[in-house]
Amino acid sequence: MSARVIDGKAFALALRERVAAAVPAFRAATGRVPGLSVVIVGEDAASQVYVRSKGKATEAAGMASVTHRLPADTTQAELLALVAALNADEAVDGILVQLPLPRHIDESAVIAAIDPDKDVDGFHVVNAGRLAAGLPGLVPCTPLGCVMLLEDVLGDLAGLDAVVIGRSNIVGKPMAQLLTARSCTVTLAHSRTRDLPAVCRRADILVAAVGRPEMVKADWVKPGATVIDVGINRIDDGAGGTKLVGDVDFAGLSEVAGAITPVPGGVGPMTIAVLLRNTLVAAHLRAGLAPPAGL
Ligand code: NAD
Repeated sequence: MSARVIDGKAFALALRERVAAAVPAFRAATGRVPGLSVVIVGEDAASQVYVRSKGKATEAAGMASVTHRLPADTTQAELLALVAALNADEAVDGILVQLPLPRHIDESAVIAAIDPDKDVDGFHVVNAGRLAAGLPGLVPCTPLGCVMLLEDVLGDLAGLDAVVIGRSNIVGKPMAQLLTARSCTVTLAHSRTRDLPAVCRRADILVAAVGRPEMVKADWVKPGATVIDVGINRIDDGAGGTKLVGDVDFAGLSEVAGAITPVPGGVGPMTIAVLLRNTLVAAHLRAGLAPPAGL
């Protein structure tokens, strides 16, 4: 059996186009475009790349993007003052503070300071609570992107057995809640789970969000299952360079699964596309407008 490879890049591009297509109507209704402010503290190379991509994608969608670059020795009080100013700025619909922050800054205090209605990363406890309670709110980009891919492949997810490996606040836990909300029977597995391969073999939907290269093997997977690989791991390519791999053994699982996301080109591109979607949704809700359908 050869699994269908889920093209996250193409799906993300289509989502970005739907977001861009909805901006003119928002502009016509409000006289302004949705605005995203991204804050980065310090010089972390990977974070710089992510922030540049987010800014470019925001502008390509016809929205306003402002990046605030702060030095690594910025104090927590200075960062909180910037967040307060962005909260108060009517032109700002989304605030994203790029993580990780330098060690002298308490990340949870900074996230807690963001206006939950501008929290386009969906990390604020108010948004985590809304998701847990089944209330409307802003949902973390990566797991929401995974669910969009799953619904594109499988349609209605109700009744399916889902196993999520990894229980982080930014991927695993919200992923489990989104699948529960779609009436899956969800198992949230983690580093202390007993007999993880046997747990995974029950899954119609298997989501790996661990951060361990190619940990999930072909004999952990039920034939025909849909596999979503969230992991991004840089490893030695054996030829003096490096390459990106996910948390699953892609070649091995491709022989068993029904559909599978590749790394790169699967979940990764969805994260920025959903960030744009969340910014557009936040802008509509703040303006008292219904978010466009089909996002
Ligand atoms: P994290 O380190 O916060 O959490 C990892 C989770 O995996 C933990 O809950 C832990 O219990 C579990 N775990 C660790 N070892 C395990 C094991 N041996 N067996 C079972 N479970 C185990 O990581 P995270 O932030 O959730 O990210 C997970 C992966 O997803 C990373 O590779 C990260 O780079 C990637 N990621 C990708 C995107 C994207 O846009 N595609 C976004 C966020 C994270």
